[in-house]
Amino acid sequence: MFTFRSAVPILAAMPSVTLPAIHASHAGCWLRDGDGLTRPVGKGEAVTVAADTPLLMLNAPLVATRLGYPDLSGLDLLELFAFVHPARFVVPTPKGLAHALGLAEPADDAGVPDLLQRATEALLATCGDPQWAEREGAWSALQSLARLRWAWAGTLTAHISRPERAERWLFARLPEWEEAGELPQPRQVELDEAVTLARLGQLTGVDAEQRQGQRDYAVRAARAFAPRLKSDQPHLLLAQAGTGIGKTLGYLAPASLWSELSGGTVWVSTFTKALQRQLRQESRRAWPERRADGSRPVVVRKGRENYLCLLNLEDALQGGFGGRAAILAHLVARWAAYTQDGDVVGGDLPGWLGTLFRQRGIAALTDRRGECVYAGCPHYRKCFIERASRASARADLVIGNHALVMVNAARGRDHAARPTRIVFDEGHHLFDAADSTFAAALTGAEAIELRRWIIGPEKASRGRRRGLAARLADVASYDEAGGRAITAAREAAEALPADGWLQRIAEGTPSGPLEELLAAVRATVYARDESGGTEAGYGLETEAAALEGAFVEQAQSARAALAELRQPLIRIGNRLETILEEPPDWLDGPGRARIEGARHSLSWRVDLLAAWEALLERLGGPADPEFVDWLAIDRSEAREFDVGIHRRWLDPMKPFARVVLEPAHGVMMTSATLKDAESWDKAVARSGASHIGVTAQLSAHESPFDYGLQAEVLIVTDVPRGDIPALAGAYGRLIEASGGGVLGLFTAIRRLRAVHGRIADRLAHGGLPLYAQHVDPIDTGTLVDIFRDDPASSLLGTDALRDGVDVPGHSLRLVVMEQVPWPRPTILHRARRLAAAAAGGSASAYDDSIIRARLAQAFGRLIRSRDDRGHFVVLSSAFPSRLLTAFPEGTPILRLSLHEALQRVGSHGLDSRTPIGSDAPSA
Ligand code: SF4
Repeated sequence: MFTFRSAVPILAAMPSVTLPAIHASHAGCWLRDGDGLTRPVGKGEAVTVAADTPLLMLNAPLVATRLGYPDLSGLDLLELFAFVHPARFVVPTPKGLAHALGLAEPADDAGVPDLLQRATEALLATCGDPQWAEREGAWSALQSLARLRWAWAGTLTAHISRPERAERWLFARLPEWEEAGELPQPRQVELDEAVTLARLGQLTGVDAEQRQGQRDYAVRAARAFAPRLKSDQPHLLLAQAGTGIGKTLGYLAPASLWSELSGGTVWVSTFTKALQRQLRQESRRAWPERRADGSRPVVVRKGRENYLCLLNLEDALQGGFGGRAAILAHLVARWAAYTQDGDVVGGDLPGWLGTLFRQRGIAALTDRRGECVYAGCPHYRKCFIERASRASARADLVIGNHALVMVNAARGRDHAARPTRIVFDEGHHLFDAADSTFAAALTGAEAIELRRWIIGPEKASRGRRRGLAARLADVASYDEAGGRAITAAREAAEALPADGWLQRIAEGTPSGPLEELLAAVRATVYARDESGGTEAGYGLETEAAALEGAFVEQAQSARAALAELRQPLIRIGNRLETILEEPPDWLDGPGRARIEGARHSLSWRVDLLAAWEALLERLGGPADPEFVDWLAIDRSEAREFDVGIHRRWLDPMKPFARVVLEPAHGVMMTSATLKDAESWDKAVARSGASHIGVTAQLSAHESPFDYGLQAEVLIVTDVPRGDIPALAGAYGRLIEASGGGVLGLFTAIRRLRAVHGRIADRLAHGGLPLYAQHVDPIDTGTLVDIFRDDPASSLLGTDALRDGVDVPGHSLRLVVMEQVPWPRPTILHRARRLAAAAAGGSASAYDDSIIRARLAQAFGRLIRSRDDRGHFVVLSSAFPSRLLTAFPEGTPILRLSLHEALQRVGSHGLDSRTPIGSDAPSA
């Protein structure tokens, strides 16, 4: 059960106009009373007033951060919006709220409290409107929310009348998916140039200018869909498409044509949610929203942990959640009735909703722990996950992501539904995605998850979470051998870490073989730490090499314990298989589906245990050249949160090639930064082609943008490295010179925070709001929405923003990198650079190629269309010239002082600038 701080005192129904409102930004606080008078107030007074009177506010956690008072609560307009308009998009800022409700934007900070009052009136008026689109379910939800003492309940009660007929309960309202027969395999078709170009013409429109680069790209892409010539040898195309080529329609043209002619499904896999959204929109040019039979030809697919689990939601609504988390559950239930696909991460559930209530609440509503009981679930026929899975099997186009494609290929339940024609867009991320997917990590957090999956939660829980024995109770009572195996698995799982493991190993009182091993890992990592305290608070690691005898013995005891557990799990799997092969009378269709689901869950846990055993077996012996192993303590803000042993493939494209490429017929990998400016070698090596003996086809298509006119790279040479005041000063002045519209990229969170803390207030006073990842209590997707929506705002962030930001136009006109983005010198990185050197390259060339790729990706954020103009600034006194080929040919590059850079940025004078002495790459 989750309990958060209690809700604010419930209000009796009161006319909204009398509700006072508060707004706090980095520039100050403003309070508006019930009589319509707005005045600036100090933080102390604001906190006192908020403690006495429920105040209207927008995004309470953000206001609390601005006031420095974490316990602040009030009448949050975002909560009201989520109730009145579930599944509707709003940027959670005063301007965004005004736009969503058709109200005038506030002119300045002082005008925001007035907007909050007007927005409240507008939302309450909607509740009284007979045309309110989201009325169904509102009255019933409000009764539950009133019992939970939701702050808005009293006010809303006066505006939402009891419906004449009883409202349908959410679970009765959702539609059921239909079972459908198997599809025949796709017809073999060849796409010639003429039909491909004709389809491209249809998609781009008759009036669109013909772009030769896009036409060439589409024709090359079409070849990836040709019939396969040899088994286990797919057509493999690597296509570099400079920004602006129009690659999405370039590959959707042959993809839609192939799917239409063959009757097969094409998968397009992306790395970022931003591209998934864009693809969904662009696909509408090729496919209708629905087919004549009502089914969807285009389906977005994500990992199951992204979707709402209706059984978990029901559990939360019926008492599994308490306090604020229970209120969140009811708002999520409102959304569930109106959502398009039940996707709680990046779908139509507002990204900010979780942060209003703490993210953990949303995660607990998904099926993260693999406890799905499939057909044993009363909501199975309405389940969003099952619906998406079935819809994708019959779709023409599935929009997925790299991790999902790999996980499906490695352990998907349905072989027939595995993708065979795949376009990997953002293909430069495939290596990293494979690296994570095929990794093994025996850590405390992972092991306790397995324990809970087998034994169930330790403490008495009001929730439905149960162990394996409870989930398979009917099997145990029917099949004696199966019952014994379940009991044996339960007993063997006692060897896994239990609640409180982290504290016990820190105190030197580990319990059981796994905790003892983790304690030894922790002690070894600290003993070998050479950071001298400079890494205080951040993760620590050491090689899994030269380990002392006692450590190796502990590892072998832990391995034996894991093997003890794996055996009964295998036996249970075998028993389930026998039951499926010789079904008893009581086994109906749903029972069969449930047992198939359980067998599948078991098999991947058996694989997980085998991977852990292999990892431990190697410790103390000769290193396996295929893998890199290390010991690590994960820490955040000086707090340890996990300890364990990690294993990565030296080349993760080896398992990728085997499980994804080999069974496929046609694969395309494409990106604006697939190849290094120097050559194709790295891209080819990172495609996995050599592991299955395939020769990749290569094609490169230059960007049509005129980077010489549209952009400048400014390398600022007089901001000393490591000087935080100077770094903050440079960021502050660059943001002022640009008038906002700045994306600031950092390689370390602590420097990001230090810079933000020094400049945010000053910039806010000048009307230039500054947002930051790891500082503002707002999820990254929402931060990007806010940044896109307000051209005066700027955003600071780390790696995730280097790729995830697609902000064309004026909102993004300056990218600032705090330094050259050197790779972190981790054990894994060191092993790979040594391997690159051993393979005939050089270690420094390996580093350079990583840095060039990062610079190219960051630069790629700047110019997204022909009309974009912008500067790219790197603060580096000694930027190596050999890295300059990262930027597109023709881009002017200057080394200059901060003062000179400010003049160039401030003039916005890309069109009127003076000629530049060239430091530009010649390649
Ligand atoms: S079928 Fe599984 S994932 Fe779907 S609602 Fe039921 S338990 Fe949750």
